[in-house]
Amino acid sequence: MTETDALPSGPMRARAVIDLGALRANVRTLRALAPAAQLMAVVKSDAYGHGAVPCARAALDAGADWLGTATPEEALALRAAGIPGRIMCWLWTPGGPWREAVEADLDVSVSGMWALEEVVAAAREGAGVARIHLKADTGLGRSGCQPGADWDRLVGAALHAETEGLVQITGLWSHFACADEPGHPSITAQLTRFREMTARAEAMGVRPEVRHLANSPATLTLPESHFDLVRTGIAVYGISPSPEIGTSAELGLRPVMTLTASLALVKHVPGGHGVSYGHRYVTAGDTTLGLVPVGYADGIPRHASGTGPVLVGGKWRTVAGRIAMDQFVVDLGGDEPPAGAEAVLFGPGDGGEPTAEDWARAAGTIAYEIVTRVGSRVPRIHVNALPEQAPGGHGGRA
Ligand SMILES: *Cc1c(COP(=O)(O)O)cnc(C)c1O
Repeated sequence: MTETDALPSGPMRARAVIDLGALRANVRTLRALAPAAQLMAVVKSDAYGHGAVPCARAALDAGADWLGTATPEEALALRAAGIPGRIMCWLWTPGGPWREAVEADLDVSVSGMWALEEVVAAAREGAGVARIHLKADTGLGRSGCQPGADWDRLVGAALHAETEGLVQITGLWSHFACADEPGHPSITAQLTRFREMTARAEAMGVRPEVRHLANSPATLTLPESHFDLVRTGIAVYGISPSPEIGTSAELGLRPVMTLTASLALVKHVPGGHGVSYGHRYVTAGDTTLGLVPVGYADGIPRHASGTGPVLVGGKWRTVAGRIAMDQFVVDLGGDEPPAGAEAVLFGPGDGGEPTAEDWARAAGTIAYEIVTRVGSRVPRIHVNALPEQAPGGHGGRA
């Protein structure tokens, strides 16, 4: 039985269908692109809006070696759901659940002295040996330890804790600033800095299991950045990191999420009729309007008012006027689909529908934001959950 069978079979206001078969195919494509490296599927922020637990299972089914989350709470939730294997989390703040993380066998990131002190304290209190990944700031200017004296001090203190049997320095890692802009001079600068900082740590005595730097754009475009492990997020969900790198189809990726809504109303209106708040759209003549019952509370960006594309009855329509909290309107140009007819906001694109990348362009943002912000009011319906064959392991659903 699939999750789909458990849901009401009648039309629903809106739904996000999550094709786990496409997700598994994307993981296999990415593994083939980085054959010498391990692969981490990044499932932070509820798997970029796709549902963390089913996506994590599908990624593991397809051969992902690691899972990655931003917050420790996200990683602990995966463990609580019974997800096995290596899970790394990196967004820590003072007072975080270090003890729970170590007890749950998570790998944790350490960006500075305060974090090392807290994780060492948790280990000393009996949580167990903490597996830590020392994070270097190679140029992003966000988290991570600065090169030079700060790095030497952090590495030295971590080595000391390792000698005491409190931590194991599992990883040395960093993150790119501009990997989605191939040729950007910061990319080679960060690669050089990463090599220097890892070499320095190794000269001081660190024997890391994995050195890792690449996100999706670097995995797709920059083999020399793969090192021992690549951390892929957006590409797992079948979305291109940026138009500069190519479309999903050009990259051999298939978008995993299809967002649809059922028209709540279709009606005739005369010309000159204002539409939605602010009357930013006025009908040019007699026409029909379709009411699409999703809005910015569902993650549909208000910035796509007047520009967002929707497929209704085989034709692309454009959002007419403002996107409101719960609904928006499309001008159907006289067509009369019945109420309940399907409006496809985005999907893989091969059924003629727009893609999340099209919505990103319409809203002046990135496709990451389009899928990640789909609201909790929209049910996720996971399909193709079972692998084609279940060769044991953790295949399929519980
Ligand atoms: C989100 C994130 C990733 C994945 O980035 P994508 O561009 O989605 O592949 C990798 N590493 C870190 C540290 C991240 O925060």
